[in-house]
This record gives sequence, structure tokens and C-alpha cells, in this order.
Amino acid sequence: MADFYSLLKTTTAYKSILKDKKAGKLSHAYLIINPDKEFSLEYLKIIAKLISCSSDSVCFNCRTCSLIENGFHPDVKFYPREKDAISVEEVSEIIESAYVKPYESDKKVFVLDKADTMSQVVQNKILKTLEEPPENVVILLGAVSEYSLLSTVKSRVKKLSISSFEKQALKSALKEELFLEEDADGLISASDGTVGGVLSLLSGEEILNVKNLVAEVLTEMKSSKDVLFYTNKIKQSGVDELKFISVFKTAISDLISANQNVPHLIKDKYLYGKTKFASNFKLGSLIMVSEKLTEAEKRKKFNQSGQTLIEWLLFSVLEGKYKWQKL
Ligand SMILES: [Zn+2]
Repeated sequence: MADFYSLLKTTTAYKSILKDKKAGKLSHAYLIINPDKEFSLEYLKIIAKLISCSSDSVCFNCRTCSLIENGFHPDVKFYPREKDAISVEEVSEIIESAYVKPYESDKKVFVLDKADTMSQVVQNKILKTLEEPPENVVILLGAVSEYSLLSTVKSRVKKLSISSFEKQALKSALKEELFLEEDADGLISASDGTVGGVLSLLSGEEILNVKNLVAEVLTEMKSSKDVLFYTNKIKQSGVDELKFISVFKTAISDLISANQNVPHLIKDKYLYGKTKFASNFKLGSLIMVSEKLTEAEKRKKFNQSGQTLIEWLLFSVLEGKYKWQKL
């Protein structure tokens, strides 16, 4: 995972909200203009933690921070839940819930991502709440640009921008993703200076190939005979084992998000679209596989050879799949 915090904390947007927090003068609504469409939510999540965390800035460790991270905080809600734009029903829910006192924090935070795709009807509906917000409510709007937002909406929010980042900052925030790349500098230079931009260049054909392999293993692998077949297939495809494990982790984490009914936390929609029919994996199996993947990463670091490692991993996946079905 890219280190979004290391990038965000250098921006005036972050510094400005931090200053408001320290002065006890948080605005009731912020509009965060961010060119990184794909990862806008990651930045908004950190800002939501900054607003809600009881430390001076943001600690990432307290109960509040972890509940927000997992999408389970009762006073911090993320929209849109599934579709690409916030619906009329969702905005009604936001307005209604804004007038209910927070359950455990002293503030309620509503994160409205993709605010620039809200219809005029939805924007008009939220206007009144933006104009006369209930006490202790903070509305965080995220948008790629402000052009499709009504001027009446814009005039009621504090507008802050996250621009593209310096090459060096991006390189260090993306060191996990880029460590196998020989031409990391070239890749970053060719990008638009956002995490999403770099990753989309990185995820050319090879990563698509890895995603398809992971999806196949999750949906098709049923017996130990299949384990040998897929171990060979992965070997022959020449994909890097660590990349395979990392994509596999994303797939499992997305299946867990879907299982826990928090679909807005799904990170890779393409991959999820291909793996969602792996429904014979119960929650217990998914958690077990996720632990095995972490162990596989460790084993790789201790130089266990590729084929043995993948074979061990696939057997563990199969074992996990059936173990929980019997319970
Ligand atoms: Zn915290």
C-alpha cells in the first residue's frame, strides 16, 4: 500500500485542517480537490481520522482511527456506498443522520467522495445542511475538480486542494510498489504526479496477467491435482512471486470487505469482479488464507524457492477453503 500519509501531510490542505483542529475551529464543511481520482478516498480517510482522533493530530492506532480505517466507526460514514455517485436516498440518509447526536465521538463526519459526480438534485438537497449544519457535524467533500459543483455548494465549504506531488516524494511513498522496477524514475516522470497515475502506468499487461491468475486460482482450483496444475501455470507465466502474493492479498481483502458488507472499501474493482463468485469461501477461510499470504511473504524473504513456495501457498488456500466448509 502506498504511504498516502507521507504525501498528504506535506500539503496545505492537511496543514490547514490540522491548524483548524488545534485552534478548535474546524469548519463544518471542507471540499478537497484532488486530481487522484482512484485514491481520493484514501486521502479523505486520513482527513476523517485527523478530524476525529483525540490526539493532537492523527495517531492511526487508537480505537477511533482503526474503526475509521475499517469503515466501522458509527460516527464516520462514507458515501457513495456502491455506485459511482451519491444517490438521492443516500443524501436523505445523510441529512437525517446529521441531526442525530454522535454515538461515541464528539463529532460526526460524513465523507462524500466523488462529490463532483453528484447530480444537481442531490447537490440542492444537501445545500441546506451545508448552510445551517447541525452542531458537531463535519462534511468532507472529495472531488477531482470543482467545475460540476453548484456555486451555492462551493460558497458554503472551505475549499482546499491537493496538487500533484514531487517525484522524490512519490518515489518514497510508493517504494513497496516500485521496488522491483528498474525504471522507477522514468515511470514517475511519465505519470501525472499522483499515486493513481503511477500505478496505472505500472499496472500494464503484467499485472493484468497476475490478476487473472489469482482469479482463476480462487474460482477454479478444487483439488490437489489442480494445485499442481496451477503451480506450474504460475511458474511458466514467469510472474514475480511477490507480485502474485501481493495481488492475492488484495483479492482476499476485497472478498472480506464484501463479506462484511462494506463494499465501498473494495480496492480493486476489476479483480473483485473476477473473484466475487469464489463464494464457497467462508469468512473463516478468507481470514486463514490472508494469514497464509502474510506467511508466504515472510518465507519468500527467507529465500524459499519460488515453486515450492507457490505450491505450499496453493495447498494452504485449498485447505482453508474446505476446512471452514465442514464447520
Ligand atoms: Zn487516533
